[in-house]
Amino acid sequence: MEETDLRELCRNFCHYYKPLKNEDFKCRGYLVVMELINKGKNLSFDKTDAILDEGTIRMLSKKLCLSCSFYENDCDFAAHVEKAPPCGGFIFLGHLVSEEVLKVEDMDCLKR
Ligand code: SF4
Repeated sequence: MEETDLRELCRNFCHYYKPLKNEDFKCRGYLVVMELINKGKNLSFDKTDAILDEGTIRMLSKKLCLSCSFYENDCDFAAHVEKAPPCGGFIFLGHLVSEEVLKVEDMDCLKR
């Protein structure tokens, strides 16, 4: 899959997505999705209005955020800014885990 295809993930799920900005650094959620696709997972980026449950959010915070390059200084969600949502990759992966399309262990597909 080409890089541009993953922009649909950001466009549909990420509250921080800026169409004209070309990010050199990718968030951990994005990188995990890319790795899963490279390993043969067939994922579609259809929007959903479902809300992630607290358990899934807690689990993904440990699995994704702690090894994300934005964690220390560049993520309002990680900094616990009030009402700041996680990134699009996090939200997308959370829905797939909730729907049992992915397992929690799938988040470990990338080396830290
Ligand atoms: S929510 Fe923030 S820290 Fe967590 S993976 Fe996304 S960008 Fe990184």
